[in-house]
Amino acid sequence: MNPTLEIFSQGEEIVTGQTVDTNAAWLSQEAIHCGFTVTRHTAVGDKLQDLINLLLDISKRADCCICTGGLGPTSDDLTAEAVAQAFNRSLEFDEIAFEQIKAFFVRRNRVMPEVNRKQAMLPQTATRIDNAWGTAPGFSLKHQRCWFVFLPGVPSEMKPLFLDHVKPDLLTRFTLQPPQLVTLKTIGLGESAIQELIKNIQIPVDVELGFRAGTEDVQTKLLFRFDYPKLALTALVSEFSQSLGDYIFAIDGLGEVTDDLAFEVDKLMTAKNQTLAVVETASYGLLAAKCVGYDWLVKASYEQALVESTQALNPTELLDTAKRLAREVQENPRVTMVLVQLYSGGQAALRDKNQSLGVLSVLLIGEMFYETHHEVVGSMKRKQNQAALLTLDLLRRHLQNRLIKTNHCI
Ligand code: ATP
Ligand code: MG
Repeated sequence: MNPTLEIFSQGEEIVTGQTVDTNAAWLSQEAIHCGFTVTRHTAVGDKLQDLINLLLDISKRADCCICTGGLGPTSDDLTAEAVAQAFNRSLEFDEIAFEQIKAFFVRRNRVMPEVNRKQAMLPQTATRIDNAWGTAPGFSLKHQRCWFVFLPGVPSEMKPLFLDHVKPDLLTRFTLQPPQLVTLKTIGLGESAIQELIKNIQIPVDVELGFRAGTEDVQTKLLFRFDYPKLALTALVSEFSQSLGDYIFAIDGLGEVTDDLAFEVDKLMTAKNQTLAVVETASYGLLAAKCVGYDWLVKASYEQALVESTQALNPTELLDTAKRLAREVQENPRVTMVLVQLYSGGQAALRDKNQSLGVLSVLLIGEMFYETHHEVVGSMKRKQNQAALLTLDLLRRHLQNRLIKTNHCI
């Protein structure tokens, strides 16, 4: 049986719904991948007695608990105090934690406010978790049967602390049998289209199939128990890859590091030493924004005048215009590849959520043109995002040698 783990989120803003508890969602996924059975999420506001009661309850029923929030310097940050009272320990001044908090302010050229001293007060015998990303150190300790881990609430501090310090420690502290998770990431197919494509695959009863449709991709997830035979796992994943074909831009869980579409494009653009220029209309600058920080994107433009001058064109005229524009941009000697995205219908078609938008993407490399057509639907924001992804996906298909002509409505 897997050890049990609970997640405890602290803060009035979580209970009242002002902040969505993304920490609990993220930590649950991580804990499950480590091999825990996550049994409960609880959120408690800034009431000391409620915190104490919950800590005592959890200490009796869970093997592990991860608590986030309430480690800050202000009066509503009560976690350390609650731990001290619940588990009958004093709060002790931790000299090293204090030095780290002071150093944090020095690095930012700021004077440390006196209230931050409070963050160096840790429950007696707790193990400090050094925080290089913020001021509050985390800490961990055991009470009754439960190993408690307390982390800051700010996600950008909590996540690296968990990955760098907590996870390696939990893996040695508990006997865990992490399940194997394989995620196939696709662009250009909705969940129902995926269901249709995979409907003939025989999925063994002990393999869990799940889907997650996000704004950046649709993920098909296969969860295998920890000792599932490698060969059988690879065979099933390969059946899925064949069925979903070139809609897959990355597969996570087979050893390679993956992320979003731009990350995959970046790996290949860098390896192949290519540069890109983009002309976008339907995505209104979002395509360029998805490539922020990648130096292969040497030029990107959005012009309202182009949206207007192309709004009444028929498909052939649109394609001719896209090709002409691509050739013009290609004259820039720093550019080796050009992506041009056009649509007809103008702003009205983009705004009207009942109207689909036909997006044409053209890629020019040397003398070769490649093109895709997609119908994007939904709100203006969704159409903008889908257009950005689908145009960038044309480049990804070329880079992965998976170019086909697509004509899919998503
Ligand atoms: P700080 O030093 O910033 O006070 P803290 O550990 O006390 O850190 P909180 O005060 O509880 O943490 O939260 C700080 C911020 O972190 C919140 O304003 C919120 O934006 C974010 N945050 C806290 N808890 C969560 C959560 N469970 N999910 C997502 N974000 C959270
Ligand atoms: Mg706080």
